[in-house]
Amino acid sequence: MSENLATVAYIGATILFILSLGGLSNAETSRRGNFYGMLGMTIAVVATMLGPRVTALGLPWIIGSLAVGGAVGIYAARKVQMTQMPELVALMHSLVGLAACLVGFASYVDTSIVYTGAEKTIHEVEIYIGILIGAVTFSGSIIAFGKLSGKIGGKPLLLPARHWLNLLGLLAVIWFGAEFVAAHDVDAGMLALAIMTIIALLFGIHMVMAIGGADMPVVVSMLNSYSGWAAAATGFMLANDLLIVTGALVGSSGAILSYIMCRAMNRNFISVIAGGFGTGGGSTPVAAAGEQPAGEVVAVSAAETAELLRTAKNVIIVPGYGMAVAQAQHTVYEITKLLREQGVNVRFGIHPVAGRMPGHMNVLLAEAKVPYDIVLEMDEINDDFPDTDVSMVIGANDIVNPAAEDDPNSPIAGMPVLQVWRSKTSIVMKRSMASGYAGVDNPLFFRENNRMLFGDAKKMLDEVLVALKV
Ligand code: NDP
Repeated sequence: MSENLATVAYIGATILFILSLGGLSNAETSRRGNFYGMLGMTIAVVATMLGPRVTALGLPWIIGSLAVGGAVGIYAARKVQMTQMPELVALMHSLVGLAACLVGFASYVDTSIVYTGAEKTIHEVEIYIGILIGAVTFSGSIIAFGKLSGKIGGKPLLLPARHWLNLLGLLAVIWFGAEFVAAHDVDAGMLALAIMTIIALLFGIHMVMAIGGADMPVVVSMLNSYSGWAAAATGFMLANDLLIVTGALVGSSGAILSYIMCRAMNRNFISVIAGGFGTGGGSTPVAAAGEQPAGEVVAVSAAETAELLRTAKNVIIVPGYGMAVAQAQHTVYEITKLLREQGVNVRFGIHPVAGRMPGHMNVLLAEAKVPYDIVLEMDEINDDFPDTDVSMVIGANDIVNPAAEDDPNSPIAGMPVLQVWRSKTSIVMKRSMASGYAGVDNPLFFRENNRMLFGDAKKMLDEVLVALKV
């Protein structure tokens, strides 16, 4: 394939990637968006393999790597549970970071292209920055994987003088950067590069370890952004325009997502990154929370829940992480259909950080074929709770916690929440009185107009469905 044809194919792939992002911004067009993305990636890979920069000698290596990577990808995608998706995404981000590091080191020791003068400096700066972003993304994503999968506790690790440590690390990275560019031979440069990589790896670990459970959504979207910039940096090192554009697309869309997440949680981006935000100045979230909520908890049965739903005119369903764990979305929709047939106005209220990844609930509800027009964002539905007869909270906790509004000492203080307690009756469906991801107790459970339906969400909803059909 000639250079010109490869360029045309790259432009085509770029357009498809942009169309893909556009499609993914809406649930109704997301399937098409995915298709554009897959098509774009196929064109990109084929054009690269057949392009002028790949020799016949290199082709078997690429095909071998594709086979191994593709097999691992297919296995992981088929095996992964819906609830493990966020961890898988974090792991994928770490691979992008690792790739950027490896490409960086490889291009530094590669002697096949000789750079001189300003070109040499530019190439070395590309390598240095590429490895820096890659290493932070790699170690940060591994820690995020550990936190999301519960292998590492959600409590923020707040080292004394952590901001000074970060600043010291930054200064060292700048200093070694100057050493690296000034180095006369590969050995001297390699030492500076290796030291910087270690500092960057430690920084990635420290950055994510310092972030409290409640702020994890921002970290996930931020690492998504970093992985894009790591890919763009790889593109610079390899002088591959498509990789630069694709990386920049992922990087900037991840940055926008981080901004949206911060806004949804009423957080300041810099404070989240600096770590320990909302933890009451260094203690753990639970210890920093205000008074323990107390009072009477009223439990209800599935039959009583069905009766409350049957006699309601307006119902809002608030799904959370527990719905994903229980895989209760299909039963939720069965109940919704039945109630709607009986003239009950049923709608869904979706919190931006419900579940464990952006859009988690939307994906589950779309999978169960819930119509999009009854699935509303928090801002669209929050004012409707006072006119609602029953709010049914399914496996959600932090996103309906009134302490976010009432308790300034709460680790989630200031985070907008779905105000289910303003409806006539709220029913919380969960297995116990345990707290949610942020580790904060929930005073909602003790409210006078709240009822608790204890049990696995799928099992309880099956019972509610049976009772509704009687
Ligand atoms: P939470 O984690 O606050 O609460 C989920 C609740 O579900 C738990 O309290 C649990 O209670 C219950 N549950 C678990 N399994 C089941 C089951 N099988 N049946 C019924 N209930 C079950 O989830 P929310 O969705 O309310 O809030 C999301 C939290 O996750 C926020 O703190 C957010 O910051 C964080 N987060 C979000 C990310 C995102 O991008 N969306 C990413 C990372 C973190 P019990 O054990 O008693 O059953």
